[in-house]
Amino acid sequence: MSQIRLDKYLSEAGTGTRSQVKEYLKKGRVTVNGVLIKKPDIKICPETDQVFLDKIRVLPLSLAYYMFHKPAGCITAASNGKEPTVMDYFKNAPEKDLSPVGRLDKDTEGFLLVTNDGALNHFLLSPRRHVEKTYFAEVDGKLLKDAPQRFALGLDIGDDKPTLPARLEILSEDAMKCRILLTLKEGRFHQVKRMVEAVGGQVVYLKRISFGSIPLDENLPKGEYRRLTEEEISILRAQAGKDQEHGNE
Ligand code: URA
Repeated sequence: MSQIRLDKYLSEAGTGTRSQVKEYLKKGRVTVNGVLIKKPDIKICPETDQVFLDKIRVLPLSLAYYMFHKPAGCITAASNGKEPTVMDYFKNAPEKDLSPVGRLDKDTEGFLLVTNDGALNHFLLSPRRHVEKTYFAEVDGKLLKDAPQRFALGLDIGDDKPTLPARLEILSEDAMKCRILLTLKEGRFHQVKRMVEAVGGQVVYLKRISFGSIPLDENLPKGEYRRLTEEEISILRAQAGKDQEHGNE
């Protein structure tokens, strides 16, 4: 069984930074298997050793699932040192191995799932799972009359294959612009923008309002995140489930 330094374990379990943890140790607030420990560098086994801080058991960090309300202006990618990234918002999250599930464009807002569950991340992105995502968009221009039917059939947007069938709902329209809801079962590069362009419009505002049938929490301000509820996690697991069971994709 793998061993880990006590200060690293305490810090990764979300109790504080490495230097805060060293202070807890110095002050005699930490025990391991009932023995007071002051040294940060002793090695413990997370699976079998019982670590307590102030008499409260410190469990190893488990899997975390966050709903993030992405604001416009940050990229969904590893830092390039120049632009703000979505992960900059997670600097204070206790888990250090979080990553976003899929991508939203820099100017797109809305629901981004962020997790350290690598398997779920993988399966939710699998093109075979057809996990639905719904977008609200404001569009300049007048869409072709039969745009909903074209979207329902699958649209040629210049890729090898036409898109999978998608649902288009026009919320309002006038001669110059419209507001739409679009539900997709895949996540190609700039997909909403390219589909709208193919039927005569230009997206000027885009927001993802649901992911895998979980709606973006209306009370979650832009730039903030919250943990998914147990129920929301089960919904996602169910959607990823088939592939996970079969261990493929
Ligand atoms: N489709 C787009 O065009 N952009 C996004 O950010 C997401 C979907």
